[in-house]
Amino acid sequence: MGFDEWIAHVDMDAFFVEVERRRRPELRRVAVVVGGTGDRGVVASASYEARRRGVHSAMPTVQARRLCPHAVFLPADHGAYRDASRRVFEVLRSFTPVVEPLSVDEAFLDVSGLRLHFEKPAAVGEAIRERLRAETGLPASVGLATSKLIAKLASERAKPNGLLVIPAGGETDFLHPLGVRALWGVGEATHARLEELGVSTVGELAALPRATLERRLGAAGGGLLWELAQARDDRAVEPAEGAKSVSVEHTYEHDLRAESEVAAEVLRHAHRLAARLRDAGLAARTVTLKVRYADLTVVTRSETSDGPIDTAHDLVAAARRLLDRVALAGKAVRLVGLGASGLEAGETPRQLELGRRPWDDLEGAVDHIRGRFGDQAIGPARLASPRSRPADPSGARRRDAGRGHPE
Ligand SMILES: [Mg+2]
Repeated sequence: MGFDEWIAHVDMDAFFVEVERRRRPELRRVAVVVGGTGDRGVVASASYEARRRGVHSAMPTVQARRLCPHAVFLPADHGAYRDASRRVFEVLRSFTPVVEPLSVDEAFLDVSGLRLHFEKPAAVGEAIRERLRAETGLPASVGLATSKLIAKLASERAKPNGLLVIPAGGETDFLHPLGVRALWGVGEATHARLEELGVSTVGELAALPRATLERRLGAAGGGLLWELAQARDDRAVEPAEGAKSVSVEHTYEHDLRAESEVAAEVLRHAHRLAARLRDAGLAARTVTLKVRYADLTVVTRSETSDGPIDTAHDLVAAARRLLDRVALAGKAVRLVGLGASGLEAGETPRQLELGRRPWDDLEGAVDHIRGRFGDQAIGPARLASPRSRPADPSGARRRDAGRGHPE
């Protein structure tokens, strides 16, 4: 098996219950139900012992008491669960920054960047489970697969406290025997319509003509469901808020008046931004330049590229094109910023196929030296003495280049 199963779905087992058990070991191996304990309360989390008696979350507590009268019923302590959740996500983000939370105890991880550190995806999954156990004291289940759909179903199947890898090529063997409710978007109404079509498993759904589904469920919904039933799901892992963009910007004590000064700052920002992206293991699709003039008006210019970029070489090129679109002549500039968004994991499989370009390795070495000796230790030669030489060779190509400036 290669490193094809690059999406991990991590789901803590009976999360609230396990947090309670962590501080009250006498609750281990007995039925525990956490949730509203009053007459109108509902179950928030049930231990597997209680689930075997038919208790599940969102069920009225009154009903849970009937099904499982010997269970220990506890009120929810959301502060404790929030703290535990924070620790869980710290552990997950120590593996990769590309973590997409689905709830307090559940997330997708893009683990493709870990191929250099682990022999195979199953080893990543085991490492995640072990680290969660060691650092939070809580059990987790992990599913690994080539898509979000299959990874999530795999972790469900692995529960409790398990790991399941669905190998590339084995997706439909795993998916087709499952009931149609396994597919996202199949609620009560859709389920009823599928039953009318005589469909109960995903495999039966996959065997229907796509047009039939589109007629019965609408073109968009029916088409999507049909795709999922073929195990076709190319959704990427979207990192959480806060990791959705990376930027560097600087407000200058003295306004920048020469275009060459602005260009030099943009170049410097591009190198710092590239270093940040690589530190985080990320690559960007969109680069945004922001300029605030002395009169406090702000202009931003963005460019989205076909492929993800994380090298200073590519960021500089994009930043220069963006700078061409900003009117600088005769304007005093107070702030320059450069941002990267549309982030995804760096070194995606597609990039690996294309092969590493020479400057990728060069820039890795530059990061290493910066890390050891500081930001000033190394940089492009033309930044070494910005006053004595043209700061940005591309300035000569700018539409408004040379207007009253030395370059
Ligand atoms: Mg869970």
